[in-house]
Amino acid sequence: MHKKLVVANWKMNGLSADISAMLACLQKDASILNQIDLCLCVPAVFLNSMAFLSKKLPISWGAQNLSDKAEGAFTGEISAAMLCDVGCRYVIVGHSERRQYYGENNQWVAKKWLAARQSRLTPILCVGERLEEHEKGETLAVVLAQLDAVLNLASSQDFAATVIAYEPVWAIGTGLTPTTNEVLSVHTALRAHLIKQYDSATSQTVRLLYGGSLKADNAAQLLTLANVDGGLIGGASLQYDTFAPIYKALI
Ligand code: PEP
Repeated sequence: MHKKLVVANWKMNGLSADISAMLACLQKDASILNQIDLCLCVPAVFLNSMAFLSKKLPISWGAQNLSDKAEGAFTGEISAAMLCDVGCRYVIVGHSERRQYYGENNQWVAKKWLAARQSRLTPILCVGERLEEHEKGETLAVVLAQLDAVLNLASSQDFAATVIAYEPVWAIGTGLTPTTNEVLSVHTALRAHLIKQYDSATSQTVRLLYGGSLKADNAAQLLTLANVDGGLIGGASLQYDTFAPIYKALI
């Protein structure tokens, strides 16, 4: 049985003082944090100082994106090896904002996923349907196609112990959430798909997160469903007072 995984996605928010303030607050919760896995995905420029700033807190940190290339003349890009070098354990891959604003398609996301995996990083693969797809009943088809693009490149060994985050695009930053039955059905389908592709043992090593408008008042309900192994939290992760109740709901 895994510990639940809670991932904060700060997106393009916060400065180093905000990170220091968050970490000072997290120090008070060290005994709670030992019972879960908590990862802060802060903006890339701050990753280098996380080891120093986190002062032996039982947390990890990760990036929000990476290049699919290993090195070379790719101005502005950051490689998997560089993220490993600054102590990252995780990297978010295929977040819907990357897909929407930066044209990342399933194939490109899959290449990034593989680049992460070929280093020592654990990719957090984001999948999720847009509102119109949700309304047309295409959720499972969309989500499984996003997953299949990666599965086509990954052996069971590659895929083991990685993370998938189901994030309906229409739930991100909107205050809207799917019903518990909708989350249950997507997560059950993701697990079944992994069993079909690989086997039950491999599937059980993969943590399935839910993300999209998680807050103190819905975290316990959504994050304790079967096949939900934790959460990916955007807006509410920026302040300790809105973040802490979410991970405390898992204890
Ligand atoms: C996200 O961007 O991954 C996310 C879940 O955002 P929010 O929690 O703000 O909906």
